[in-house]
Amino acid sequence: MKLKVISVFVMSLIFISGCAKQSEDEKFSRLVNNFIDEYFKYHPVVATWVGYHKYDHLLDDFSGEMLREKLEWLKNYRKKFSEFDLKKLSRDNSIDCRILIEKIDEMIFELEELKEHEWNPLVYNSVIGDGLMYLITQDFAPAQERLKNVIERVKQIPRFVKQAKENLKDAPQIHIETAIRQNKGNINILKNDLTKFADTLEISSELKTELKKVVDSAISSLEEYGKWLENDLKPRSKRDFRLGKELYYKKMKYYLKTNLTPDEILSLAEKEKSKTHDEMYQLALKLYKYYYGKEPKKMDKLSVIKAVLDKVVLEHPKPSEIMDRIKSDLNYLTEFIKEKNLLTLDESKPLVVRETPEYQRGVAVASLEAPGPLEKNMKTFYNVSPIPEDWTPEQVESYLREYNYYSLLELSIHEAIPGHYVQLYYSNRCPSIVRSVFWSGTMVEGWAVYAERLMVENGILNNDPRMKLIHLKWYIRVIINAILDHKIHAGGMTQDEALDLMMREGFQERAEAEGKWKRACLTSAQLSSYFTGFQEIMALREEYMKLKGDKFNIKEFNENLLSHGSPPVKYLREILLER
Ligand SMILES: [Zn+2]
Repeated sequence: MKLKVISVFVMSLIFISGCAKQSEDEKFSRLVNNFIDEYFKYHPVVATWVGYHKYDHLLDDFSGEMLREKLEWLKNYRKKFSEFDLKKLSRDNSIDCRILIEKIDEMIFELEELKEHEWNPLVYNSVIGDGLMYLITQDFAPAQERLKNVIERVKQIPRFVKQAKENLKDAPQIHIETAIRQNKGNINILKNDLTKFADTLEISSELKTELKKVVDSAISSLEEYGKWLENDLKPRSKRDFRLGKELYYKKMKYYLKTNLTPDEILSLAEKEKSKTHDEMYQLALKLYKYYYGKEPKKMDKLSVIKAVLDKVVLEHPKPSEIMDRIKSDLNYLTEFIKEKNLLTLDESKPLVVRETPEYQRGVAVASLEAPGPLEKNMKTFYNVSPIPEDWTPEQVESYLREYNYYSLLELSIHEAIPGHYVQLYYSNRCPSIVRSVFWSGTMVEGWAVYAERLMVENGILNNDPRMKLIHLKWYIRVIINAILDHKIHAGGMTQDEALDLMMREGFQERAEAEGKWKRACLTSAQLSSYFTGFQEIMALREEYMKLKGDKFNIKEFNENLLSHGSPPVKYLREILLER
């Protein structure tokens, strides 16, 4: 199984290199294969997710010695990759070479300057949680085999926790509080999910005894770690949750891999916000009369929009209808894309719509669960969460309003068709392993936001103004996410200011805005990726249109954009605008 995967890489890499340039390209491919294997050895939990299963028995090593070794390793590869003469490489390899150098620079920045391992306890929580859950839940190999690797990983938890305690020196309070909660979640994985998983298997009594022994020892080390976070790290920590301007600007550069500067992104976002408000107001004016039977009087722009949105959200499915509604929306989207000739869809691998597995519930009503990019023959699920039985009628109603008919459709566009699901299967056809493993989040999220715009531009739901309005509400959230990210981490935006921006100018409910405030404090740069990627794709389309003139064809553009893996958009520019 493992050998087969590796030989596919080698073949595809040789295949894409041109004949005349073979030797330089071959040298490059060999180096890439070595680098990627070593990269996975340093990041075994990431490797499991990606679908490279050679290191499923390992848990990441955060010892000081290992971190120093990793930095040396990165610098060594950086030097080797920068020695390639890009002109002697095929176009695809020349792009991959630059993607690798940028990725290496990002990792060097993380180790030398950002140093999250010294101040962000969530880094450790996710290695443990992801490291166990992928093996327990993802059906890529026989369960017995996966269980053996789970046991190997569980054995390493006490060592891993010891490293976390040695490394964490000072952390923001909000990160520590979240880590304490997530640590309890990790203990639950060991107590419940792992036990349930093992119970479904026929295993020898020796293995059972071993499992119990390693699980007990891991649980006690995690319980002790939770106490340490609470009683030791928390009282002595003073670090600000804001990254600060200098680190934020650098992180944006390494993380987004765009030619836009953080200042340009912010001013673009401010401009788009006011433009979008104007567009929403024009739509709301017409709808106001429809809903209220009169013209709005003495109301400002934002209040008119809000008054109309309050009515539109009342059009929502009953709890028992959500699943069927999503299925019929997906059919509708497939037909719509065919009818408008926007993209060739691959209907040979249908998306599996199912109820969200229990352990993943509680976040969104529906989300895409795709296998890692190197995983073969695994299904993609569109998980739909049933409404929890213990909710009050008020909670249920507010949830349903959030997922009114129009938002539900918008969600399926973003997550599935033609958003993430379609983008992923196009991307997986690209033979470049570099672009599969180091895919650009900015491109992937940018595409999903672009997909939403594409459907509206082409008159989805017969140009229904309610759909357009809800679409713009979604878009303004993308814009505001970028503004929040910048102003919180590079400026001093307070919680009140952030909530006011989201609720008044973004028309969000308090609960949603409060959740977003937390996410914006806990992460940085990621919330800017949606807006940035979308802007880059729209700008690229503009230029592509100019280049093609009368010959411009939207389907050809969309397919061209999706057919080169998921590299940063700046490289897609290079490919698409090549004359
Ligand atoms: Zn997304």
